[in-house]
Amino acid sequence: MALYKNRIDLHMHTKSSFDGNYPAAEMCRAAVENGLSTIAFTDHFDVDFFERHNLDTRQRTSYEDIISAREEFADKITVMRGIEMGQPTYDIALTEKSLARYEYDFVIGSIHNLREMPDFGDLDYKSMTEDEIYSLLDKYFEEELILAKWNGFDTFAHLTYPMRYIVQAGRNEIELSRYDEITDEIFRTLIANGKALEINTSGLRQPIGKTMPTENYVRRFKELGGEFLTLGSDAHFTEHVGAGIDNGYEIAENCGFEYVTYFKDRKPVQVKIEK
Ligand SMILES: [Zn+2]
Ligand SMILES: [Zn+2]
Repeated sequence: MALYKNRIDLHMHTKSSFDGNYPAAEMCRAAVENGLSTIAFTDHFDVDFFERHNLDTRQRTSYEDIISAREEFADKITVMRGIEMGQPTYDIALTEKSLARYEYDFVIGSIHNLREMPDFGDLDYKSMTEDEIYSLLDKYFEEELILAKWNGFDTFAHLTYPMRYIVQAGRNEIELSRYDEITDEIFRTLIANGKALEINTSGLRQPIGKTMPTENYVRRFKELGGEFLTLGSDAHFTEHVGAGIDNGYEIAENCGFEYVTYFKDRKPVQVKIEK
């Protein structure tokens, strides 16, 4: 039972993502069944995996699939044409060229891996020393700051992403307070540039059991003057469309936000949080 009206889920993947499973139309059907009012499809475009993920082709099939589902479901749900740019700062020229290929409503900026490294989800934290894990996190937050400063996205996705896997590996001693200064700088950069912060709810259905980032970061973003928040389930399956979105609204409200945001033609649209 949905608690909130105007539920919006701005982060989900179709089978055009290397790790996706369903066509856009099936994800739309699930979104309508879940009573969502607006969604964005945001297939992966991990710039540093351009060849390996065959992104030239995948980007086209993703866009065409989104357009056709959007037409099919036009009278039932609002569908935004989005993309999740992974590691865009590792090849800015390729990123800019790729974004110019299609008319996107919404661009997510993400970091899933360090330069020339596998995804944070594919590292073996069990066998690492504490120092080794912190040294990865040092680099991660530096890359997140570089991403924030690049500014070519609309929302800044799943900050604290590596923690999903670090906690999953049982490394509960790792904690992030030592990064408060750099996360403040990231937030100040986003705010100065009028960008949104994403509350990614996928962690709620994973061992970490928390949103990325957690509520304390959302509160800090607000304290520093943050205005735009997007919510995303990061669904890769129909059963996860809209998952945790009510929790996301609750966190937003707890932190003093009255609106959540979606993007149309790369411009923010504010939607009142209402029960
Ligand atoms: Zn991501
Ligand atoms: Zn994603």
